[in-house]
Amino acid sequence: MFPGETEVATAAAELATRLPVPLRPLARVAYNYWWSWDADGPSIFEAISPTRWSACGHNPVRLLAESSTADLARAAVHPALVARIDELVERLEVDLGRSPAAGAASSPDHPVAFMCAEFAIHDSLPIYSGGLGVLAGDILKEASDLAMPTIGIGLLYRTGYFRQRLDTSGGQHEYWIDADPDRMPCVRVREATGEPLILVVPIDGEDVSVGVWRVDVGRVPLYLLDTDQPTNSPVGRWVTSRLYEQNRTIRLAQYAVLGVGGIRLLEALGIEPAVHHLNEGHPALAAAARVARRVAAGDSVTNAWTAVRDEFVFTTHTPVPAGNETYSRKEIQGVLHEIGEETGNLERFMAMGRIDQADRSEPSGMTALALRTSRSANGVSRRHGDVARRIWQPLFNAATPDEVPITHVTNGVHIPTWLAAPMAELLDRHLGEGWRQRADDPATWEPVDDIGGADLWATRCELRRRMITMVEHRAVNDRLRRGEEVDYAAAADTFDPNRLTIGFARRLATYKRLHLLSLQPERAIALLSGDQGIQFVFAGKAYPTDEGAKQIVRELFGLKHRPGVSGRVAFLEDYDMSLAAVLVSGCDVWVNLPRPPLEASGTSGMKAVLNGGLHLSVLDGWWAEAFDGTNGWGIDGAVDSDEGAQDARDAIRLFDLLENEVVPTFSRRDADGLPVEWLRLIRSSLKSNGPRFSATRMVREYTQRIYPRQT
Ligand SMILES: *Cc1c(COP(=O)(O)O)cnc(C)c1O
Repeated sequence: MFPGETEVATAAAELATRLPVPLRPLARVAYNYWWSWDADGPSIFEAISPTRWSACGHNPVRLLAESSTADLARAAVHPALVARIDELVERLEVDLGRSPAAGAASSPDHPVAFMCAEFAIHDSLPIYSGGLGVLAGDILKEASDLAMPTIGIGLLYRTGYFRQRLDTSGGQHEYWIDADPDRMPCVRVREATGEPLILVVPIDGEDVSVGVWRVDVGRVPLYLLDTDQPTNSPVGRWVTSRLYEQNRTIRLAQYAVLGVGGIRLLEALGIEPAVHHLNEGHPALAAAARVARRVAAGDSVTNAWTAVRDEFVFTTHTPVPAGNETYSRKEIQGVLHEIGEETGNLERFMAMGRIDQADRSEPSGMTALALRTSRSANGVSRRHGDVARRIWQPLFNAATPDEVPITHVTNGVHIPTWLAAPMAELLDRHLGEGWRQRADDPATWEPVDDIGGADLWATRCELRRRMITMVEHRAVNDRLRRGEEVDYAAAADTFDPNRLTIGFARRLATYKRLHLLSLQPERAIALLSGDQGIQFVFAGKAYPTDEGAKQIVRELFGLKHRPGVSGRVAFLEDYDMSLAAVLVSGCDVWVNLPRPPLEASGTSGMKAVLNGGLHLSVLDGWWAEAFDGTNGWGIDGAVDSDEGAQDARDAIRLFDLLENEVVPTFSRRDADGLPVEWLRLIRSSLKSNGPRFSATRMVREYTQRIYPRQT
């Protein structure tokens, strides 16, 4: 039992008091995000009041707290619903009651402490921005499913990540919404006395008080640190306000709260982790906090820095040196002065974050610190491992990249979260009982060959139809809100549920090269017309200061009044997990166009292929190891130092593939109207990718290869 469990039970009991007796067990479910990946969980909450469910942003605590007495009373006398609730609660109890995995690298007394700046657990918990958070969330969920004792440590951002609106020219506008933790499925962790647990982290001369919240993710508690405490200065209170805050000083302060606060949290809770997993560099100051402990206990500074390596493993997610942000002496000395001093030697502390430790003018960064203080380091795909070894060769003084001690664990996605219901039902019928637990075994996926073409196609068409309904609804609303003419807005209601639909949605960093689609505007527009025309769905947020990425969206919008575009192309605003889930499952083709070798992994394509979508991507990140010529389409991933030339060439290749392969294959039908070759591609994709890109395979790899100490 991890600390905070009583607080969760108390909050659930309190919520239960306002519910009719048959609904009361649901309060406990509402405080554990396990429901979100149970096959019936979301529809049970929705059934209580579909309008309230959507108005509450799919937050079950708010749903139960805010539903009218009439709605609650109606649900409570609905025998079928009450039976489903009882079964749901039973499934949760069984899941929580399972014994921990035997022979795992961690145990309930010594769990893995997984530390990350963002976690994407569910869209009702807005503390994530994109792929890194989704990966962290998927790891916690899978650790729960595999009963691997694990806890998560992150930050509770009071205003989360920004929300996005576009104007009629495609200009992006950002806004932030304050979250109210008391209405979210999280509870404040308290001392035995009942007082809130408060940690202290010294930042820039202030002893910043840090409160602690607990969110349950199945069997895994996620502890979130929060500086919005009344005793802090206004700046101190602001530290954990926004994810990826633009202000560098605040960002550095966040790293202090996450890393140092994370270690103080573990001490306060009495948890001695089997290993600390630093997911990306942001929590790396945890190592400094552990060094400080050793030095305080009498260890020498040098020994302490060597010894802590035993306690940490590190996953790097960013192949761009510029993305591995660094800070000047002045910045570090300002914000992290006390933390550095506590390690016994501020100079040494700063040197640990440099590539060349002897060069005092070199700025320090969290990635270098994490690499120096971890006994294991890994990238997130085979190719990224290779790229990371080259990037960090100087730090390790290695003669060749092969000697750099960085390996890779390719990312994977949590199947129960990302597999849409119609596809889940189809696979359940064919892959046999308990197939999700065997998802990393190629034999599990063999029966995909026996899925009838008509069944497979019907499922894909249903997924597309579901998505198109959502796209039409959202696109019309988005357009009206932006102030478009009614005719133009209404045109978004004319998407075709039977047309080949291509999706591209992700963070709009410039290296993701959405602009390749507007480099060949005439070909793009020609593809939209005719009986065999296609449709495009886009979504994604540009980082608020990334003018280049914002400009790409405006350029795309420059085509919006061209003939045929208004009813065939939609850019949906405010990309998040729930929108992602519908797009990755409904699109026929999922496109990724990273500038190689900058895509560390990419995971949205894994979600798409799991649902029977086909992937068309530059051979970078995960696709470089996944594409085999029969399971999708690839664009050469060689690196060209002439970026303009590469963009032009890759855009041509993209449209060649769409015109010559994708569209004809989708359009060729047999006598029964089935696209036989397309279905063959889907089967090949499911069989080859299914076993390799699940979180089941990924978490098993971490627990078998990375977490155990190599003795
Ligand atoms: C899966 C996911 C991502 C990751 O996208 P990639 O560019 O493929 O890595 C980003 N954002 C959301 C909301 C996601 O669900």
